[in-house]
Amino acid sequence: MVKIYLENEEKTKEIGYKLGKLVEPGSVICLIGDLGAGKTTMTQSLAKALEVDDYITSPTFTIVNEYEGRLPLYHFDVYRIGCSEEMYDIGYDEYINSDGVCIIEWANLIEDILPDEYLYVELKYKEMAREMILTPKGEKYEKIVEELIK
Ligand code: ADP
Ligand code: MG
Repeated sequence: MVKIYLENEEKTKEIGYKLGKLVEPGSVICLIGDLGAGKTTMTQSLAKALEVDDYITSPTFTIVNEYEGRLPLYHFDVYRIGCSEEMYDIGYDEYINSDGVCIIEWANLIEDILPDEYLYVELKYKEMAREMILTPKGEKYEKIVEELIK
């Protein structure tokens, strides 16, 4: 587990961008944090690093948005999901097992169906700033975290 202090929005964007340079085909990034913690902000910068040209907004009502970039990006926001089963109805299995990058806002709500390996990223309010807690599951993600904090 690694903690990074994010003193302002710029820092959140910087880390998101760096992470976007490190992800690989099939990477799964879980974003956990209260409303306004910075999950979508981070996703936007990660998308920029993946050379996605579209403007990214939270897919709260559609659950998942697809983008084309250096790798395909699948941006989930599962806040409004009723139960994990609904995820399979929208093709969750295919997305997770694809060569794209999956980034899942509110992934804690579908913890029972997360794959074996992923990067768990918690964003917490620290007064006006934020703190990021990175917990890699699996060797691949441990390496990504090592690179991220270099
Ligand atoms: P979420 O998707 O988690 O609901 P958003 O990314 O939509 O959150 O919104 C995060 C808000 O917090 C934005 O207004 C952004 O400018 C701000 N923000 C992001 N990172 C930081 C930070 N490190 N310190 C202070 N404010 C931040
Ligand atoms: Mg959001």
